[in-house]
Amino acid sequence: MSINPKRGPVLRAEAAARLRKRQKGICAVPGCGRPLPSVDRWTTSPSGDLVGLVCYGCSLVSMNRRMDDANWRLLWRNPPAAALQILPLRARYWKSPWSQGAPDPKADLGADPALDPPRAWSYAGTPVEVLYELQERRCAICLFPLVLRPARNGYFAQVHVDHHYVWTDETWVPEIRGILCARCNTNLGRTSLHEHWWGSVLPRRQAYLESPPAQCWEATRSLVYGRGRPPATFRDWSEAAKEAAIQALLEVAGQDQEKIVVAGDRRWFDWYYAGTAVHALLVEQAGRCAVSGEDLNPPRRSGGSPTVSAATLDHAGPDRRKGPLRGLITPTWNGRLREGGSKWTLHEDAQPYLAAPPGQRSPHTRGLCYSEASSAWLSPVARPRADGLTQAQVAEAVREARAQAARWRPDLWGGATA
Ligand SMILES: [Zn+2]
Ligand SMILES: [Zn+2]
Repeated sequence: MSINPKRGPVLRAEAAARLRKRQKGICAVPGCGRPLPSVDRWTTSPSGDLVGLVCYGCSLVSMNRRMDDANWRLLWRNPPAAALQILPLRARYWKSPWSQGAPDPKADLGADPALDPPRAWSYAGTPVEVLYELQERRCAICLFPLVLRPARNGYFAQVHVDHHYVWTDETWVPEIRGILCARCNTNLGRTSLHEHWWGSVLPRRQAYLESPPAQCWEATRSLVYGRGRPPATFRDWSEAAKEAAIQALLEVAGQDQEKIVVAGDRRWFDWYYAGTAVHALLVEQAGRCAVSGEDLNPPRRSGGSPTVSAATLDHAGPDRRKGPLRGLITPTWNGRLREGGSKWTLHEDAQPYLAAPPGQRSPHTRGLCYSEASSAWLSPVARPRADGLTQAQVAEAVREARAQAARWRPDLWGGATA
């Protein structure tokens, strides 16, 4: 790592090299005095922290005997490794933001038409493409050029649309922060990474978190994450598409009067999940919370901006994207299930729900994970109007946005046209 070697976190091998010097090649256990073996033998405290390097003999002492030994307890009170921040073992495979070299911030990436975003990109013609252009086709943190080339599976994995969850109107909304390279996006998610890991790009990383670039321009403000469904238009349903969706939902409802009412309730077309398998799940649940049985409400609109969700889509697992769907519940119950952690500490009302989640019983949502849910359309015609921004319209939107704010944090952003 090319960061300040005196400060910041270190890989385990580097930590061992420094400890050998600090321990003068001698076992860390007080009173032992034997030399260290050539292969590093780490010892940890009873709480699992790395403490120092020990000799072969000491490494074999059982934890019970260490607990009874004053020398070991002394070692744990004054661990030689205390001053070091040691990264997890797997960190040697992590790529730092500058692992591909420093990009040239003055290069104009828009000059070559061959580098224009392909129309097959799922964000082509959406406000996300506008954001991509406003960021001058660069990672917002490390400024690395982001070129869209399809991988074998057809996805454009080089460009990461980064989002975080904000609590809005009683629901968590996946708000887009900006566009990042794969390395910066992954490293942002690593809480064990000390600030020094980011080196020279740290100021932009901090600025990115405090005032995300997508929030800087009117055209991209409050963009919500979801493949091909930017918020500017996701409520924009044609009558024909609505009818197609309602027909599919009525089939789900069958003869059940309550379900038929929910299937025909057009207010739900303001919902983030309108027209998807999750909408079918809502009908199957007869519009009720799967835990408490309370009525779930269609989205309200507050302050003129669209509310993306009223009923909360609950899923299993700590991962916000990949967990299997469990069901639609109230925001209150969603909060309780999130905080609960262990299912044994949860209120017993939730036990039947957790034991047999409706999302896994439904033929529409079974096997579906959270990140797929927003685009699992009930039928190809039952979906909101396509955005259809032409390339000229994207360019116009970029011009307008630039007139308002030329670039995000110009003090931290290189480039020729500052
Ligand atoms: Zn020893
Ligand atoms: Zn980056």
